[in-house]
Amino acid sequence: EALERIQALEPKLHSFLYVTAERALEQAGAVDAKIAAGEEIGLLAGIPVGIKDNLCTKGIPTTCASRILENFVPPYESTATQKLADAGAVMVGKTNLDEFAMGSSTENSAYQVTANPWDLSRVPGGSSGGSAAAVAAQECVVALGSDTGGSIRQPASFCGVVGMKPTYGLVSRYGLVAYASSLDQIGPFGNTVEDAAILLNAIAGYDPKDSTSLKVAIPNYAASLKPNFKPRGQLKIGIIKETFGEGLDAVVEQAVTKAVDQLQSLGAEIHIISCPTFRYGLPTYYIIAPSEASANLARYDGVKYGYRAPDADNLLSMYTRTRATGFGTEVKRRIMIGTYALSAGYYDAYYLKAQKVRTLIKRDFEKAFGLVDVLVCPTSPTTAFKAGEKTTDPLSMYLTDLMTIPVNLAGLPSLSLPCGFDDQGLPIGLQLISNVLREDLLFQVAYAYE
Ligand code: GLN
Repeated sequence: EALERIQALEPKLHSFLYVTAERALEQAGAVDAKIAAGEEIGLLAGIPVGIKDNLCTKGIPTTCASRILENFVPPYESTATQKLADAGAVMVGKTNLDEFAMGSSTENSAYQVTANPWDLSRVPGGSSGGSAAAVAAQECVVALGSDTGGSIRQPASFCGVVGMKPTYGLVSRYGLVAYASSLDQIGPFGNTVEDAAILLNAIAGYDPKDSTSLKVAIPNYAASLKPNFKPRGQLKIGIIKETFGEGLDAVVEQAVTKAVDQLQSLGAEIHIISCPTFRYGLPTYYIIAPSEASANLARYDGVKYGYRAPDADNLLSMYTRTRATGFGTEVKRRIMIGTYALSAGYYDAYYLKAQKVRTLIKRDFEKAFGLVDVLVCPTSPTTAFKAGEKTTDPLSMYLTDLMTIPVNLAGLPSLSLPCGFDDQGLPIGLQLISNVLREDLLFQVAYAYE
């Protein structure tokens, strides 16, 4: 059914860069055979999943939506996708993204522009726009994305699905092509909170192949979901004051305010919380993320991976030509910003300063979680915008992640779930944020609300 739906919808949606139909049917057949033989099947047996194309899949092209990895076929499997396969999940294909996960609309893909299933003239958000659109259009039941500054939550919000970014270190990053290593996390998309919870359970856990992976016990998220908060008043929810104000669409504000009222009627105690450093998140991120990216992307030199520019007459020109033609505009912009911020003489003024502000943002959150259990705010200040609307203005594109970025800088878990529609029928997202490793709370609050 998923493959049929992909065949019918892809000419309009373009969520997938690569469909693994034959392999999917084989995997599904293997599950059928197990059932027929009375053998035990995994938690996700037969469930069609979409995988963002920056997760390495052995023997299957992994392009990061970049020309520079056009012909790259990884010789190994990422831990997250291996865990899904072990649980019996059936991968139906690799989903579109902004090149190397840099962007907020999936328009930075070198190959195709993904449409928003709710309005084909609009973007699905990004960078995991392909995964969000595929789940919203039910081309697959669940999908994996990656979130460095909002790339799971913002597209989830734009496409009206549930998306979650786990605590930094909860899911192994082994086999995730690095963008900004201190911020990147893999996370689930689903049409329901329960689906997202089940998918996170399947991929979370310690992995010796990732040195930042956390050695912690993983609770059964789906098993602890309840319809309300009891006893009343025990759960404290804080509204982040600074996220309401200039730049926030009135219709988004109304929907989020209404959602908070509903959380109160479910038994939560509502507080107003101030996170004064929240507004420094965006400038801090746009120093740290490009700095890490400029180092991570140094490996694409035409020697070790993928594309190599032809006709270079010496090594240096081979490097420069490969990178000049292999990378897209946004990727080059970030490599230049990062290289500049890390260069001698500027390091203290930019990178070191940004790291200090990052600590202040973390402290603001720590203070907030001394007062409340969960923070709420909009996921994005607007609903999905028109394709092409922001492509020539990178700063206005960056602004769409204003509310998701501080969470990555602090390493916290955060979830976006649908909380209504604007007057054009486009979905609005509610963002929930909790303290480190309190994914269980996020899922509980989201489930009770949903
Ligand atoms: N949109 C942000 C950026 O362009 C975040 C991307 C992400 O989370 N991967 O960097």
